[in-house]
Amino acid sequence: MKADIQPKYGKATIKCVCGNVIETGSVKEEMRVDTCSACHPFFTGQKQAISSKGRAAKFLEKYGDKKNNK
Ligand SMILES: [Zn+2]
Repeated sequence: MKADIQPKYGKATIKCVCGNVIETGSVKEEMRVDTCSACHPFFTGQKQAISSKGRAAKFLEKYGDKKNNK
């Protein structure tokens, strides 16, 4: 390993928009992310954040399917 060309590895903090701060190690000192393990639906179990329904199904749910729901 050449001494002078290696990036400096040190303590780093990852800041999420939800307010969670994660301490880690990286060549970067600070990172900002939109989603972390504290607020991502996969980890929180809040599956309603991600809807598998299509746009048409959502529209019908919201405004009603007048033809079929008499
Ligand atoms: Zn987060």
